[in-house]
Amino acid sequence: MIAEDPRRRIPRTDALIEAVADIDAANHAVKAAISTAQNEARALKITPEEVEGRVRQLLGNKSLKPVLNATGVVVHTNIGRAPLSTAAQEALINASGYADVEMDLERGVRSKSRGAGAIKALLNAVPAAEDALVVNNGAAALLLATTALAENQEVIISRGELIEIGAGFRLPELIESARVELKEIGATNRTHPADYERAINTRTGAILKVHPSNFRISGFTSSVGVEQLREIADQHSVSLIVDLGSGLLHPDPVLPEEPSISEQLEAGADVVIASGDKLLGGPQAGLLLGKAETIARLKKHPLARAVRVDKLTLAALEATVAGPQTPVEKALHLDPQVLKQRTQALQAAVGVGEVVLHDGRVGGGGAPGYPLEGWALRLPEEWAKPLRTGEPVVLGRVHENGLLIDLRCIPESEDETIAQALRKVK
Ligand SMILES: *Cc1c(COP(=O)(O)O)cnc(C)c1O
Repeated sequence: MIAEDPRRRIPRTDALIEAVADIDAANHAVKAAISTAQNEARALKITPEEVEGRVRQLLGNKSLKPVLNATGVVVHTNIGRAPLSTAAQEALINASGYADVEMDLERGVRSKSRGAGAIKALLNAVPAAEDALVVNNGAAALLLATTALAENQEVIISRGELIEIGAGFRLPELIESARVELKEIGATNRTHPADYERAINTRTGAILKVHPSNFRISGFTSSVGVEQLREIADQHSVSLIVDLGSGLLHPDPVLPEEPSISEQLEAGADVVIASGDKLLGGPQAGLLLGKAETIARLKKHPLARAVRVDKLTLAALEATVAGPQTPVEKALHLDPQVLKQRTQALQAAVGVGEVVLHDGRVGGGGAPGYPLEGWALRLPEEWAKPLRTGEPVVLGRVHENGLLIDLRCIPESEDETIAQALRKVK
């Protein structure tokens, strides 16, 4: 007797649609999930009896899964940079319906100051700024600043500051994609005031200073500070743009070498650029803070409309800047002793691994290479994948044939969740 082909038992589409009718999903999504599951059964990857369960699983999957960041890297680009504070999360949900983003409720008319709350919060936090503008991200802010302040002109930049910001995106190429010409000066390791002086001509629109946020040149180096660039810019009546990237509002003693927005404005920048989701600890955004006249020129440029932020970003940014300590700040300022105790408690709760010294990192766009003293639980490397693909997702750091679980970026309230996830793998 010939065995029956199991594929004959694969449930039909209409039967499956009826079987999963209790799930709230768009028709096209249901059909796509059914078709995927049926194909898997035809390829004998699952049995016909598993098809309905697989459809349910596919419809339940969201492509953006929450991740417990046990890498010790605070601003980790691959997992969405800064986690939002609870205050920012609440503000975001609050603004997700209709919200008065461009409405003056008092007078019942359109308000011209979109995002006024976020701007006010930024200006309160950074008194050295006369005005501010928020756009989609740091790259958009840089594009807008160079285009609005030096359109059809040249922007002078030191060779040591021509950086790639990740995944092949280079700042020089971004700037030149607009109608701005870059004039590179100096050598990779050294640039002097005279290099700027020599380069400035009647076609110069701005001097751009970029903070090398993701690498560090050491040894025989020199660069020209913002104060000196201010003098040069004044002598020749050109704008001075400072791209900081990282977004510290004020100096922070735990990151002694990281420049802040306040300092750069006080030193004389016309406009300082930073990302919202790096050290500021907020949503993806590009912040432009500076002189009133400069910000007015940026707002007026047609590009400003193309790089505008949405109301969700504005709400989350305002709550981040005006709100309590952000998760990024907490992770940066964590007491190593507390981290050690939590790590030892985790080791005791799971009963495996070894508590080892482990430096955390600031990560994406801030304090390159600067170590944050701390501890981690060292486990077998083979644990990495089950933890990464489990529920909840726990992402550790694979290092020297081991898996390091660093609790720096994990809220203490989640330590037990991590312990449970580890026990599951054990
Ligand atoms: C990160 C960074 C950028 C890009 O900012 P995004 O918000 O990622 O677009 C630009 N300049 C510097 C110096 C940076 O560090």
